[in-house]
Amino acid sequence: MKAALVRTHGGPEAIEIAEVPKPEPRPGEVLVQVKAAGMNHLDTWVRRGLPGRTLPLPMILGADASGIAVEIAPGADGVKEGDRVFVAPGFSCTRCVHCLSGEEALCRDYGIFGEHRNGTQAEYIAVPSGNILALPDTLSFEEGAAFPLVFLTSWHMLIHRARLRPGEEVLIHAGGSGIGTSSIQIAKLHGARVITTVGSDDKAGKARTLGADEVINYRREDFAQEIRRLTGKRGVDVVIENVGQETWDRSIRSLARGGRLVTCGATTGYEGATDIRYVFFKGLSILGSTMGSRSELLRIARFMAEGKLHPVIDRVLPLARIAEGHRAMAERSLFGKIVLTP
Ligand SMILES: [Zn+2]
Repeated sequence: MKAALVRTHGGPEAIEIAEVPKPEPRPGEVLVQVKAAGMNHLDTWVRRGLPGRTLPLPMILGADASGIAVEIAPGADGVKEGDRVFVAPGFSCTRCVHCLSGEEALCRDYGIFGEHRNGTQAEYIAVPSGNILALPDTLSFEEGAAFPLVFLTSWHMLIHRARLRPGEEVLIHAGGSGIGTSSIQIAKLHGARVITTVGSDDKAGKARTLGADEVINYRREDFAQEIRRLTGKRGVDVVIENVGQETWDRSIRSLARGGRLVTCGATTGYEGATDIRYVFFKGLSILGSTMGSRSELLRIARFMAEGKLHPVIDRVLPLARIAEGHRAMAERSLFGKIVLTP
């Protein structure tokens, strides 16, 4: 079968569309014929390599996929041949205290397809049956591959970590990113007022269409000053951070009393300065978050089926044009997700 394979770390040209053996599902696993596979920033990190971490290579990229269950190995249950399915992007031991309390991402054995074991950007993938979820009838395969990782991450940040409540105000950085487009919708679904930042006027209109109440063009305006203006100097209750070093101190200064900052990434660098006075005087919380639980993914899928949440797709590319997708992600010239079709 064909697969997007990284043998050695490097630029977009390091990805090879290779001919590799079709995976054999082990006991308890399901073989999925991939109809669409989503791209995430994670793919970029795996391709480039992460400082201080050794990733197993060669690796097939990709955490998100949808497709058809074509082979059910003994011991796999809850799914039958021919079912339309999507893949939960994370896997864990399923029996430790974290897994049993719905905190799978804290499991010592937690892993993500395309990072810890072969991923979804291929014609087939074999996954544990627990990772197979029913694709809502209302969603196309492309849509089914565009939402799991980013909506799961955003839901976990806003709802589980920040405990977002109706009427609260939220700052969501990079409203055109995967995390941005999903966070805007989830925050609106929960009755919040959403302020987001974008890098172009074109993206501003799209962010408003998704439900953002206020949009700041961060290339023209300082977002921290705009937050002061838009909230009458009060600040926001929650900040969704995935930018990192470039915005960290201003994100903290943008919080209201009792505010919560949740971080799931640091694309511009890891060194954030924190003025500790703000943290204690204003009773702030700084929360880390990564991925989420399958129970959250089930809730998200239900809202997708009801048309209350929508996958946002920037473009669909054939697998052979994957390098183009990596370049577009590096240039941030996207609104929503890139989906690959094998
Ligand atoms: Zn576990």
